[in-house]
Amino acid sequence: MSGVRLSDVRRTTDRLADGREIIFFDRPGAPERVVDDRRPLTAASTSSQIRRDPMLDEYVVMASHRQDRTYLPPADECPLDPSVDGKRTEVPTPDYQVVVFENRFPSLSGPGKGRCEVVCFSSDHNASFADLTADQVDLVLSAWIDRSIELAALPGVEQVFCFENRGEEIGVTLSHPHGQIYAYPFVTPRTTRMLEVAQRYRAGTGGVLVDDVVAAERRDGSRVVGETEEWTAFVPEAARWPVEVHLYPKRRVPDLPGLDAAQRADFGPLYLDLLRRFDRLYGTPLPYIAAWHQAPVRAGRDLLGLHLEVFSIRRSADKLKFLAGSESAMGAFIGDVLPERTAERLRSA
Ligand SMILES: [Zn+2]
Repeated sequence: MSGVRLSDVRRTTDRLADGREIIFFDRPGAPERVVDDRRPLTAASTSSQIRRDPMLDEYVVMASHRQDRTYLPPADECPLDPSVDGKRTEVPTPDYQVVVFENRFPSLSGPGKGRCEVVCFSSDHNASFADLTADQVDLVLSAWIDRSIELAALPGVEQVFCFENRGEEIGVTLSHPHGQIYAYPFVTPRTTRMLEVAQRYRAGTGGVLVDDVVAAERRDGSRVVGETEEWTAFVPEAARWPVEVHLYPKRRVPDLPGLDAAQRADFGPLYLDLLRRFDRLYGTPLPYIAAWHQAPVRAGRDLLGLHLEVFSIRRSADKLKFLAGSESAMGAFIGDVLPERTAERLRSA
């Protein structure tokens, strides 16, 4: 078994007491990660069901076992901290830099039904992603790349989704800085739709939709909030959320493993700058969802482009946007803020 071999990353794999895989990503020179998990864990019975909605031809995952998962534990019981001072957590080592392990309460599990993993961005319980250094972001990126390669190679996996939910307002049950990776045994409804649209555009124009949209945003500029040598960040013209920014590499790649060294190195500084602007918008940590869109494992790899969509449900200092009738029932979003205005506020935040 081999993941991505980035020369400046040391990868250590082991098993937790119940057999789940754990993978450490460290800079060379960090202490060896020796797992000694003495928790009396029995393998969780967590088989999920995948059902198809015949009216929409969309998959829905049934994961009823998740009802019992840990919900907002006190900080001294955080299961994502290193195991020190007699405390036994999900990470049975005295420290770590970035660590990934299989979720004990996965939404997707069982033979051929995909896999769910947890990524801890830092061992510091009180940090958030925006507090990481560019080098730490690069190490997280290495972990995402490694997992995207390995999960895509599992039998039946059709799409790999790396994401972060940040803030209790989003429904986060653990405040420790972490994200998740879902390996789906199907192509998700959103990506299926994006692929259909891209195929239609190719048939009609011969072009690649994502290239033309990003080029148009860069030419127009009114919604661009940040730009580096390799990446562009902009509020989409038809943004659905009160705060919404999409980050695209200027040279299109299908997925995270497709990023070259220059693109990888250039991502952290732009993303950190953006997240810090997010937190300055309302003077309070902004709840957000950060979602990596990758091309499916076996479809659309020449038509879809890797990008990160980051968005928040906060629409003012003390108001959240809830998905009500039009959004939840009809999928028709009603925007509360003009995207050009959001871009302007983010540029000056
Ligand atoms: Zn913690």
